[in-house]
Amino acid sequence: MSEIKLLGRVFINANILAVSGLQIGGSGSGLEIGGVDKAVIRNPLNNRPYIPGSSLRGKMRSQTEKKLGLPQNNRVGQATIHTCKKPEEYQKNGGCPVCVVFGVPASAEAAFSQPTRLVVRDALLSDDSAKDLDNANTELRFAEIKTEITIDRVTSAATPRTIERVPAGALFGPTELVFNIYEKADYNRLKTVIEAMQLVEDDYLGGGGSRGSGKIRFTDIEILARPSENYSKPIHFHNFDTIQELADSFADLQKWLAENMPAE
Ligand SMILES: [Zn+2]
Repeated sequence: MSEIKLLGRVFINANILAVSGLQIGGSGSGLEIGGVDKAVIRNPLNNRPYIPGSSLRGKMRSQTEKKLGLPQNNRVGQATIHTCKKPEEYQKNGGCPVCVVFGVPASAEAAFSQPTRLVVRDALLSDDSAKDLDNANTELRFAEIKTEITIDRVTSAATPRTIERVPAGALFGPTELVFNIYEKADYNRLKTVIEAMQLVEDDYLGGGGSRGSGKIRFTDIEILARPSENYSKPIHFHNFDTIQELADSFADLQKWLAENMPAE
C-alpha cells in the first residue's frame, strides 16, 4: 500500500436533541442506584447522562451495513457487525464504504486496512438541559422512570421492568464528528457519514426503540475543516439547521473540500 498522508480533517459539530425519551445504558444488572432495572449511562464526575460516541458511531455503522445489505459476520461484544476479512473484499469498488469509513475492529485489524476515517465524540448533556431537568423534579436526577411490561414468550407471564430514561426535549452537545481525509475518494465518502446520521434519525438510539424511545435529531450543525497545509487555521463551510439541509448541500461541500484540501 502506498504511503498514507492526511490531507485534512472535516468537523461536523452538532447538538443532539432527544425527540423522545432516551435510554442509553449503563449496565442492566438490577443493582443500579435507585433500584431501576436499566439505568442510563452517566458521567461519574457530575452524574449527568451522556451519549457515548461509541453508541452513536455503532448505530451509524449498523444502519449503514443494513442499508447496503452487507453481511454482518463478526461478533464484537454484544453486537454482530460487518467486517471485511480479505483485502479483495476491502478494496472492492474503490473501498468498502463501511470498513473504510468506520474501521475494522482492533481484534480483526488486518494488514490491508487503512486508517479509520471517522471519529465520534461523546455528547454531553447541555448545561441548559441539566438546569431544566434539575428544576423539573424528575424521579431520578436528570432522568425519568418508565415502567415497561415485558411478556415472557414461553410462559406469557407479564413482568414489569423499570427503565431509566432521559426525558424528551433534553439537548446534548455540541458533539463532534471528525472525518479524516486521506485521498480524493474521501470527499465522496463523507456522504456515507451524512447518510448514516439520517439513518439514525429515522431509526433510534439506545434501547426501547420499538416502544418509542430513542428518537433523536441533529440540530445546529456546523461544518468546519482543517486542511493539513495550514492546520492551525480552521475554515468554515456553512451552518445548517438539519441534516437534510446538509445533505442537500453535499455537492457544494465536496467541491469546497476538493478546493481546500486538494489531493495530488
Ligand atoms: Zn467491509
